[in-house]
Parts: sequence; C-alpha cells; structure tokens
Amino acid sequence: MSLVTRVAVLGAAGRMGQEVCRAVAEAGDLDLVAAVDLRPPPVPDGVVVGTDLDTLRRAGAEVAVDFTEAGAARANLAWCADHGVHAVVGTTGLRPADLADLAERFAASAANAVVAPNFAIGAVLLVRLCELAAPHMDGVEVIELHHDRKVDAPSGTALRTAERILAAREAAGSPPLPPDPTTQEVLAGARGGEAPGGIRVHSVRLPGLVAHEEVVFGAPGQSLTVRHDSYDRRSFMPGVLLAVRAVAGRPGLTVGLEPLLGI
Ligand code: NAD
Repeated sequence: MSLVTRVAVLGAAGRMGQEVCRAVAEAGDLDLVAAVDLRPPPVPDGVVVGTDLDTLRRAGAEVAVDFTEAGAARANLAWCADHGVHAVVGTTGLRPADLADLAERFAASAANAVVAPNFAIGAVLLVRLCELAAPHMDGVEVIELHHDRKVDAPSGTALRTAERILAAREAAGSPPLPPDPTTQEVLAGARGGEAPGGIRVHSVRLPGLVAHEEVVFGAPGQSLTVRHDSYDRRSFMPGVLLAVRAVAGRPGLTVGLEPLLGI
C-alpha cells in the first residue's frame, strides 16, 4: 500500500459511517477517497460519492470500511475479496456460516479482512478481563445498559461476554456455577435472561444511555465489578483506525480486535 492509505466507507450516511468518515478524514496517514450509501452522505468535496461498489474502483480505494447492515455487508465483502480491496467490517448480524464463507473468499484473495463485532477497545478489554477473573470467582451476572431505541435484548456483546466467561471457566476446569436460588419470581423476568451455563443477563433501557456493560463476579465476602461505558460513537474509532492500518498485514480473515491488540 502507498504511504497514505486510500479508504472508502460503505454506509457513509449512517450513524457509524459518518463518524468513520470524520475519523479517517482527520487521520494524517489515511485518505478518505470514497463514500458509498443509498442516501447522500455528508462528506467533504473531493470524496467520490456513489450508491454502488464501482465507486470504490473509480476512487482507487485500498481499504473499505463497512458499517451497513448484514445483507449489504455480505455482498460488499464478496465484492472486496473479488476485487482485491481490503475490508474492515463493523456491521453486526453476520452468522458463523458467513464468517466461514468470508474466510474462504479472503484466503483466495489478494486482499484481507478484519471483522469485529465490537470496535470499542475498552469493551474488548472488558471481555478479556472477565476471562481472567472467571475461573477464580464463584458466581457472575452480566448487566448491559443501552439507549431507549435499541430493539433487541440482550445485546450481542453481553451474550458473547457470558459465552466467553463460561468457556474460560470450562477451560480452567471450574465447577458449574451454583444453581439460581430463586423459587418465587414475583415479577416475571426479575432474574434476567439465562445465558449458557446459567449466567444471568440483565438488560436496562433508558434515554441518555449509549452502550454500557457491567459484569459482577461474586465469591464469599467479596465481589469484583468490571464495567465499560461507551458515551458516544467516537469510542469505536480508535479500534476502527487500528484495523484499517493493520488489515493489509493480516492475511485472510481476522475476527475480533484481540489479535490486533495482542491479547
Ligand atoms: P445506520 O442505519 O445509521 O447506518 C447504516 C447505513 O448503511 C445507512 O445509511 C444505510 O443507508 C446504509 N446502507 C444500507 N445498505 C447499503 C448498501 N447496500 N450500500 C451502501 N450503504 C448501505 O446504522 P449504524 O448505527 O451506523 O450501524 C451500522 C452497523 O454497524 C449495524 O450493523 C450496527 O449493529 C453496527 N455497529 C457495529 C459496531 C462495532 O463496534 N462493530 C458499533 C456500532 C454499530
């Protein structure tokens, strides 16, 4: 790649896409060359704007950042693999079968891809810290808190946190978590949802919140709380830019930010 990396943003008119456009435009070593969306994205003059992927070819993009929706991302990524454009993907909703397909496509391509369901470095660290704590504590519950427009519960990140905690306990040979003592749930749902391993996950929805997660571990006489707060979408940008800068050097498909952070 050249000294300044030529970056395209797919979904450039969206909430995340606009933030990525700003972050790329402000980075001295990156050049925002193309913005693709079905709606007109608010980007500076000189950026090639379009509604289809040929926009990337016209702009000579080297890396495409995708924050669209799962259906669009599948098609966008196939195009990137076929056309030798590196891809950095934050769009959620890709299934394990999609990731398997992407791994094959990018293994056969001159281009690489980084797919991360959460680009907030603090959130990635939270999960890693929970994996460290999980085998040493006797109980754990996950609380995720989001803005009042989120329609699904619990968040994918909370569910993955619970899965990784369970996997860390199993890998360490920890006993199963103690059974829930509740025999009378006065309000249905008061004990939250039950994730694999019996880990309880609680969802809070309130105006003013953005994206927050708190994991509380318990053991006799003590508790340990690990918490991460995303106050606005800027929290995702260091992770996105890290992936944009790293993707050319990571052959094939990389899933998650952990390998890029060396954790
Ligand atoms: P949004 O609805 O504001 O933006 C999506 C944009 O994609 C829209 O402007 C839409 O017009 C555009 N789009 C849809 N299909 C397209 C296509 N075929 N070609 C080009 N543009 C297309 O959504 P958002 O809040 O910006 O979130 C986008 C995605 O990013 C979601 O999947 C969300 O879950 C995910 N997300 C991921 C992270 C992360 O850290 N990985 C963080 C926040 C959001």
